[in-house]
Amino acid sequence: MPSWEGLAAARWQRLPGFRTTTARQWADPAWQIRNSARSVQDLRSILGDLVPDSFYEDLARDQAGSAPMPLGLSPHWLSLIRWERALECPLRRYTLPLHGERRNPPSHPMARPDPLRESVSSPAPGLIRRYPSTVLVLLSHNCPVLCGYCSRMRNRRTGAAPFQPHSRDEALLRSLHAMEPVEDILVSGGDLSMVPMDRLEPFLGSLLDIRSLREIRLATRAPVALPQWVMQPRLLLMLEKLTGEAASRGIRISLQTQVNHPQAITSATVNAVAALKQAGLAEVRNQAVLLAGVNDQPDTMLRLHRKLWLEADILPYYVFLCELLPGVEHWRVPLARAVDIQEELQGMLPGFLTPRFRVDLVGLGKRSLDSRKGHDPILGLHWWRGLPPMLPHGTTHHDATAITAVYPDPLHTLSEEGRQRWQKPWREILSQLPEALQEVPQ
Ligand code: SF4
Repeated sequence: MPSWEGLAAARWQRLPGFRTTTARQWADPAWQIRNSARSVQDLRSILGDLVPDSFYEDLARDQAGSAPMPLGLSPHWLSLIRWERALECPLRRYTLPLHGERRNPPSHPMARPDPLRESVSSPAPGLIRRYPSTVLVLLSHNCPVLCGYCSRMRNRRTGAAPFQPHSRDEALLRSLHAMEPVEDILVSGGDLSMVPMDRLEPFLGSLLDIRSLREIRLATRAPVALPQWVMQPRLLLMLEKLTGEAASRGIRISLQTQVNHPQAITSATVNAVAALKQAGLAEVRNQAVLLAGVNDQPDTMLRLHRKLWLEADILPYYVFLCELLPGVEHWRVPLARAVDIQEELQGMLPGFLTPRFRVDLVGLGKRSLDSRKGHDPILGLHWWRGLPPMLPHGTTHHDATAITAVYPDPLHTLSEEGRQRWQKPWREILSQLPEALQEVPQ
């Protein structure tokens, strides 16, 4: 068990609202969730005068206007933020954006709440299938920390109700069995740490009955956002039993997390990952998102991946370009900048620890940045072409048709001429570009 007492003086007791919090309370994930900040008012009562009034005012303005996501921050996450330098703190910048940080306009004209069109890749409620061998299962819409660049923000924006545990899970499992062969299941949300244990345990156990299955990936940011969840003896015992049973059936269980900045990795993360490995998890992998003002410097990326590997035993996996969502224009990084950062990391880490930079595209899935087929430098528009991984029913790779998918650079990085051209409806813009772009799935 980690020494939460040891962390106390260093972290949470700096926050006025948690000064009397005991180590026992801090170690309790239910206490963490109950005491999360979900409004500007909550933040005021936790932070007091650690930040000036102008900070709360700017935040309130953002929440009332351009924020695409509600506010949601676990006490543990709040304790990681450097409040004395709140404006510069990278963790604050990507989980608690201020109105003054948004771009004008805050969204690209092509931005939409379902940027990957997951809703049309859903064979059954709660399931998403964009690749032949992998299925994504969504068990919850909740997370210990809510990110403004979340590709499933549509579920939060519409206030979708939490799933009905039993009836929903039985239907999900029936659909998964009917889909065989499925080799890889990613259990996500939202965040797995928000799923009650009484529901999680039988659900994960039932997945082991899928005969074609080879890997279960558990998706959660808990190692950095709610390590208290990981350290629960009941969870670790459940994972130990599950990984043992899975191994006897030739199935690996791994965990996928999201750490975007080295500052998020503390001894609590290190302990959580060690406990997960001890419980039999094969690997803990990281998928970072490239975010302007947070990790868009080669040095930060290098420090992040060295710390993941050397201190936390987390395997660097992907770095994604921020998806084309509403309200994320200030976080997006132009493709050329992402390529530069990728280049600068080459040779700085062992090859198997060098993250793969990817853009996730409608219809085409994850593509390397340098595999684009063309671009328009004035519009800052890049395109990729290829066969969709999920072919239409009855089609083979011999008779399938290639499709094109696009990713635009942020508007503020374009010339005046480029910004002017985006004043037109984007469908009209695409129709005037090379012929293949008229088939862009949107
Ligand atoms: S943790 Fe993941 S699912 Fe949750 S809000 Fe952030 S990006 Fe979305």
